[in-house]
Amino acid sequence: MLSVTLLGTGSPMPSPDRAGPATLISAGTGDDAEHYLVDAGRGVLMRLGAVMLGAPNLSAVLITHLHSDHITDLNDVITTRWVMTFEPTPLTIVGPVGTKKVVEHIMASLAPDIDYRIAHHDDLEAPPEVNVIEVSDGAVDLPGNVVITCAPTDHKPVEPSVGFRFDYTDDSGSCAVVAAGDTVPCEGLDSLCSGADALVHTVIRKDIIENIPLQRMQDTLDYHSSPAEAAQTAARAELPTLILTHYVPPIPAGDPGDDWRDLCTPHFTGKIEIGDDLHRVEIESR
Ligand SMILES: [Zn+2]
Ligand SMILES: [Zn+2]
Repeated sequence: MLSVTLLGTGSPMPSPDRAGPATLISAGTGDDAEHYLVDAGRGVLMRLGAVMLGAPNLSAVLITHLHSDHITDLNDVITTRWVMTFEPTPLTIVGPVGTKKVVEHIMASLAPDIDYRIAHHDDLEAPPEVNVIEVSDGAVDLPGNVVITCAPTDHKPVEPSVGFRFDYTDDSGSCAVVAAGDTVPCEGLDSLCSGADALVHTVIRKDIIENIPLQRMQDTLDYHSSPAEAAQTAARAELPTLILTHYVPPIPAGDPGDDWRDLCTPHFTGKIEIGDDLHRVEIESR
């Protein structure tokens, strides 16, 4: 079984109820558990705290693309993992080409803090260890029992961008979850979805946004998927489950998002999951 926890279902538009884009994919239990964080948006460590996890528990952080809303709290993950562990625990960050440079700049911006803490704490001797792996297509070389692959997605002009697939085998069989990130329907995402069990897809309500007379909003229409497009992607791969996240505009608190669901059902007959932050979906092995 793999579990998917929507840590942050928000977007660049600040919402009091929705943290920034972040999804947790977990496998196994106890000390053997593996936890993969996909994107690190606003408030990610608060939401991780709500599921009794912290930065030290992460097996790796996987970044789908370098838009600010998806990486804004990466600095918090780096620093908090460093100061909350008592032996060196390098943080692995996987992302598209360009991630190394961004992480270098984050580290540079943290330089005063790193100096303060090393000077103040005798047992902190070296800066945070960060291991960045840039990927574009194919296998992601990580330790652990979850097999991770990636493929290019289409979020142009944001380039490059990638989606990730997580394959896990346990005593009951195997299962696979795909995390799309921001993308329009594309071949790379279709290839990741082939034979998988669930797709976590970011969506925007194009039917609402296209009626907002602001060019800044109109600009977002051509590089995201609508609920219908996400549903069509899930249907092409005959996936059992579609999980929507990154709701633009934010779904009001307490609203089950039935209107979002209704936009999917003409295209997709599987299970559709829409939820608030911390909504958790279990994907059983088969
Ligand atoms: Zn984006
Ligand atoms: Zn986004």
